[in-house]
Amino acid sequence: MDKSLLQKAYSPQDFRKRGHILIDQLADHLDAQINEESTATLDWHIPEDERAFWNDFLENGDENELFAQILKRTTSVHNPKCIGHQVTPTAPITALTAMMSGFLNNGMAIYEMGMAPSAMERIITDLVCKKIGYNSDSRGFLTSGGTLANLTAILSARKAKVQNDIWNEGHEQSLGIMVSEEAHYCVDRAAKIMGLGEKGIIKIPATEDFKMNTSTLESELEKASANNIEVFAIVGSAPSTATGVYDDLTAIANFAQKHDLWFHVDGAHGGAAIFSEKYKYTVAGIDQADSVAIDGHKMMMLPTITTALLFKDGNHSHATFSQKADYLLVQSDDEDWYNKAKRTFECTKTMMSIHWYTMLKTYGEGIFDEYVTQLYDLGKAFGNLVQNEPNFELAIEPNSNIICFRYVDANLNLNTLNDLNANIRQQLLEEGEFYIVQTKLRGVHYLRCTVMNPFTTEEHFRVLLKKVKEKLEAILSPNN
Ligand SMILES: *Cc1c(COP(=O)(O)O)cnc(C)c1O
Repeated sequence: MDKSLLQKAYSPQDFRKRGHILIDQLADHLDAQINEESTATLDWHIPEDERAFWNDFLENGDENELFAQILKRTTSVHNPKCIGHQVTPTAPITALTAMMSGFLNNGMAIYEMGMAPSAMERIITDLVCKKIGYNSDSRGFLTSGGTLANLTAILSARKAKVQNDIWNEGHEQSLGIMVSEEAHYCVDRAAKIMGLGEKGIIKIPATEDFKMNTSTLESELEKASANNIEVFAIVGSAPSTATGVYDDLTAIANFAQKHDLWFHVDGAHGGAAIFSEKYKYTVAGIDQADSVAIDGHKMMMLPTITTALLFKDGNHSHATFSQKADYLLVQSDDEDWYNKAKRTFECTKTMMSIHWYTMLKTYGEGIFDEYVTQLYDLGKAFGNLVQNEPNFELAIEPNSNIICFRYVDANLNLNTLNDLNANIRQQLLEEGEFYIVQTKLRGVHYLRCTVMNPFTTEEHFRVLLKKVKEKLEAILSPNN
């Protein structure tokens, strides 16, 4: 049998050569993006054109051009004008650990398939637990994304709070969770996966300023009980995705404690505020949560996907997927924290912990404080700029690095304004210099920015607003 392709694919010389070229390309890219020698955040094509390009490339493209083309035809999260989605410009050193993870490919499900990273995982999750304010009974693990972390936490909640052994026997009663109408859609999805159905998702209305309206919690719980729904958990957002507004975690914690509900904090985006001396007040009360999810790939400069799920009582993290109900009785010195698949949804996962550990070892935890603080400062600065513009308004004064704003004009109706703002965003996308996104809040169309790059400046916001105004003038001018 011909093995020449295998020999080629595993050639150390070839790997070395391509690797050196790629590192140079990425370093040049970083330099050009951070120092803005290259101004574009993306090179927009409609999906069909993009597909045609890559179809053609597969047949006719120059193999040596492949990595350069991928670089050119993706969104540059390292560009300071990339202020759209909540994905971090990775700290470059973690691109190296991502390469190590990809290369070494230790499966992590059991200790033997990832000895160093399993030990590191315990160390870094212990550190995050401590930062949350948990004591030494707490435990955590890393898992593949905020979505999966939230599902896992709600499964843990059901195990801990519902009397019957649902994991083994299923359930006949109606179960429910409480969550703000502003929460990330993945909480709904988790509830549906668990078979709670629409009626099992008790949607708590938000206040004017997009926080969970905690004054309605008692009556919502009474209503659910009257409908024979057994509520076992409540989820708070830290912050919610669309507006970046933090729920009042202390109020939710008090309510949860009073009614013996599990309290989960979805801190996928902003749980990392625990590291910011200036902004940790945003997560006041987080130490009372039974579980907390924090995405490393959002506010901690780590590659996708790198999520920490932390439990105030480590026994619960062990019990979620256990087949035997008496699992909790296992002595803590037999805890086997190092066999991760007992706790995680995944069997195989990537070596996520090496990114966290490398950041801590190289820069210390102060880097997370600098990062979160800088971005939240910038969020506020952008909010102030918008407020000083006569024809612009904010959805809400920024709580974090997420800013929703729009053009307004008293002479135009809502539909016209919605179309105008959507039009502006589409033009920006196609132009490719700035990358921002959009959201609809209570029927109103907003332009939405998330400042993820610590090298974005107020000057960038000024230029962005100027561009938006120029586009508006072009659309609104009478001879158009
Ligand atoms: C991003 C986000 C999620 C989903 O996390 P993934 O890591 O993308 O799966 C969940 N909740 C909130 C509040 C988020 O911002």
